[in-house]
Amino acid sequence: MEARISRIGFIGIGRMGWPMARRLIEAGYSVAVQDAVPGRAADFVQRHGGSAPEHAAEGAEAIITMLPTSREVAVVLAASRAGLRQGAVVIEMSSGEPSATRTLAEDLAGIGVTMVDAPVSGGVARAETGELAIMTGGPEAALERVDPLLRAMGTTITRCGEIGAGQAMKALNNLVSAAGFLVSVEALLIGSRFGLDPAVMVDVLNASTGMNNSTQRKLKQFVLSRKFDSGFGLDLMVKDLTIAMQVGRETATPAPLAAQTRELWAAAAALLGPGQDHTAAARFSEALAAGQISEQKG
Ligand code: NAD
Repeated sequence: MEARISRIGFIGIGRMGWPMARRLIEAGYSVAVQDAVPGRAADFVQRHGGSAPEHAAEGAEAIITMLPTSREVAVVLAASRAGLRQGAVVIEMSSGEPSATRTLAEDLAGIGVTMVDAPVSGGVARAETGELAIMTGGPEAALERVDPLLRAMGTTITRCGEIGAGQAMKALNNLVSAAGFLVSVEALLIGSRFGLDPAVMVDVLNASTGMNNSTQRKLKQFVLSRKFDSGFGLDLMVKDLTIAMQVGRETATPAPLAAQTRELWAAAAALLGPGQDHTAAARFSEALAAGQISEQKG
């Protein structure tokens, strides 16, 4: 039986990683943080504690990666490889590519390091409160060992299968979420041209069968308010949809609506340019309709 994990290396303290690493410190773990942005790790340590060595993975019993894509994960793990402790577990929490993660897991197994994937859903708000939904893949024994860490960050932890299964599930979740967002925005555009008040439409959808996560948590908050600041990037959504289609291709599954959804989101990203929040995709739908979702006066 391996010892309880107490030392964690956390790599990627961005919008999600920062509050997740903070939750681990609050739960009593010793956390070393690392980020590519100069000064970010030191800033984190100053506010929340922990340490900020050059290689956070060095000597850690568990290494958490929360990076934009599998590309950065591969780069970081290659750079950390020499300092990885035998018997350590890498918990890949980014929304990455299942096939890339499987390749990394095979490579790490060769040096006595186990990898599991544990991507998350719930956004920055639920990362802050430790109420993320976490979907996992990998060997049962390793998942059992890291379970207390995951419970410091999330409330719903679902084992989905072998390594990569959590990430496949995550990409498919975002496919459903992305399609729901765009079709809800199109409904608001049609409705406002007809003369319906979009805010009233959202209320009716939420009391009816059209309700989805976007009607509940995005349309009023980030689209009708014109704030477009949910904290989840448009580029990351396109990446997730590309992964969903990759899984579709690998399993030879025809999915025309999924393909159309990915193309629309990719077109939105191309039109709007870099650095956009994913909820700004509503502006793309507005551009196609040559109009704006407008609230009714009076
Ligand atoms: P982010 O861009 O805010 O954070 C990523 C962090 O990784 C940044 O701080 C960046 O500097 C750092 N980084 C990049 N390359 C690095 C490297 N080589 N070495 C060290 N650090 C490096 O992204 P995020 O929104 O926190 O998302 C992270 C992952 O979580 C993504 O896979 C995303 O799809 C997923 N996710 C995001 C949300 C959300 O609401 N933001 C929700 C669920 C899942």
